[in-house]
Amino acid sequence: MTEQTIQDELISSIRTIKDYPSEGILFRDITTLLGDARAFRRAVDALVQPWAGSKVDQVAGIEARGFILGGAVAHQVSSGFVPIRKKGKLPHETVRIAYSLEYGLDEMEMHKDAIRPGDRVIVVDDLIATGGTAEAACKLLRSMGANIEAAVFIVDLPDLGGRKKLEAMNVPVRTLVEFPGH
Ligand code: AMP
Repeated sequence: MTEQTIQDELISSIRTIKDYPSEGILFRDITTLLGDARAFRRAVDALVQPWAGSKVDQVAGIEARGFILGGAVAHQVSSGFVPIRKKGKLPHETVRIAYSLEYGLDEMEMHKDAIRPGDRVIVVDDLIATGGTAEAACKLLRSMGANIEAAVFIVDLPDLGGRKKLEAMNVPVRTLVEFPGH
């Protein structure tokens, strides 16, 4: 299968919902991709393809859709999995970082002992928009000594500049499909 055919298949398996969660947003719903066995497998295979045969210590998934993809990615590269969660959800000692959302601030955290200094880590989420969420996750992981190999996403919204934001902090970015606009 050519890369273009795979991209077409992934794009057609993603559902777009207009004006969700607020007016003017085109919500790219990947639950339809997850529910399509072939598309789900192809997406996970394509996300990790550059790391076939290389050592990855941990995959860090961003709550919540990054957990679903990240678990499958971790299995594929034979690594551990680290959840990056909204504040107050993790039971043990945590480290925390604040980041800005469209309206106001939020915080995310991970367990203090989840990463060993020098661990090679891949960050996973479903979609990168402004990049604020992934940027905060990468900063949090680096503060614990992680070497970020890459941040990977199924969907890129290139007009919002997230990829550039991560690349400016020397995080390589891999995305599979792009949609214009918000
Ligand atoms: P950002 O921090 O702006 O890169 O936003 C990324 C996070 O918000 C990801 O966890 C996405 O799941 C979610 N997100 C942002 N925009 C969209 C969109 N248009 N469709 C679906 N999810 C989105």
